[in-house]
Amino acid sequence: MTDKQTELMHRLQVDHIAFFENMTRLRISLLLITVISSIAGYSISPEMKVDEKPYLKEVAPDTVFSGKGGDPPHYLSKSGTAAFNTFDVVPAIRGYAGPIKLLLALDSGGTITGLKILEHKETKNYVHYMVSPDYLRQFLGKNVKDPIMIDTDIDAISRATESVQALAKTVRVSSRKIASQVYGLEVRSDERGGQSVITGWVIYLILFLSAFTFYYITRSSRELLRARDFSLVLGILIIGFYLAAPFSILNVFNFILFRHSSAIIWYVIIFSTFLSVVLAGRFYCGWLCPFGALAEFIGRMPFRKWELSVTTDDTWRRVKYLLLCLIAMVVFVSRQSEYGNYETYVALFAFHGNTLMWLLVALMLLINVRVERFWCRYLCPVAALTGMLSRKAGGYVSTKDCPMGNRQNPLISECIRCNRCYRKE
Ligand code: SF4
Repeated sequence: MTDKQTELMHRLQVDHIAFFENMTRLRISLLLITVISSIAGYSISPEMKVDEKPYLKEVAPDTVFSGKGGDPPHYLSKSGTAAFNTFDVVPAIRGYAGPIKLLLALDSGGTITGLKILEHKETKNYVHYMVSPDYLRQFLGKNVKDPIMIDTDIDAISRATESVQALAKTVRVSSRKIASQVYGLEVRSDERGGQSVITGWVIYLILFLSAFTFYYITRSSRELLRARDFSLVLGILIIGFYLAAPFSILNVFNFILFRHSSAIIWYVIIFSTFLSVVLAGRFYCGWLCPFGALAEFIGRMPFRKWELSVTTDDTWRRVKYLLLCLIAMVVFVSRQSEYGNYETYVALFAFHGNTLMWLLVALMLLINVRVERFWCRYLCPVAALTGMLSRKAGGYVSTKDCPMGNRQNPLISECIRCNRCYRKE
């Protein structure tokens, strides 16, 4: 080994040690930011109860209601129409990110005559059609004796399966409860789950377990490395375009804000990803993430890559950590998880976004032609979080064709565990 090579190796070792020290500082900083901002958020922006009174005229024009009262709480008019906030009646029913609060008007025969969404925390790109007047109009005229079920008498929305299931269930259960307890009507009691919801989490779990099995197999059998490409393709098609359920930093923000979901897939995604981080660092990024997969496939196109200096590359890689810390602070102080919605792939997999979002999607995909996995390396909040939580692991020395452009002896936070360079120690 020449003097120059020895000096380079020494510098890399020093960088390596500095990284672990910095990573510990980063982890502590993020934890402190989360705790302090959450405490500040609870005092500055406490959860406000939505006041439904200003909207009574919208759901029941020309109707004068008495004050709110009764059990469950409701407003009653002389003509016998009841109006109620569904959160007062069925607080436990939740969408993908907490309850969907509605103001409903019901006549004395048990027919829904008015409906308005008061508040929801679902990701806007996915539920843009669900909250539109066109979609909500389907519920008007439905009677408590009707099924009010997705795929039966209410349309499904493919990219918002969990949210529309929760919306229909909120309308169905709350209106039946009011009809029975306020009007003494006989109501149906055929409560059951939706088939597609069950299939969704099962498919996700099978995909996760298969990819994880191959991750372990490819650590000792290099012939099977191609299996990762297969897993990435399934990630794009199933997690991205079919389930529209990539792991999102919004999942984490909502989890910390106690905006839990009724959707089993939400728990499966969160717990499987965290388990994989503990066992295999950024496995999710390297084997399942649909946007990372698209970026990697585009990056494999035979175009010359930009030569970034080690310093530039290192500096830019830190941007994702800084962004995550800043956004986390904003989200927890304001208690508005949607402020954390800066993941470009949300527009892509929701098939909905504004012009700026689509331009960003196009840019973040096209740039991979010149810089491999640009989004994952420099900007992705999920990469920052999973990288920060990755435990030290030996055997990853990097290769010339590293999909993350890692140099020799990379930082484990930058390794997506593709196993191309893995050597048993
Ligand atoms: S360091 Fe090795 S295992 Fe990690 S992403 Fe690069 S080539 Fe794959």
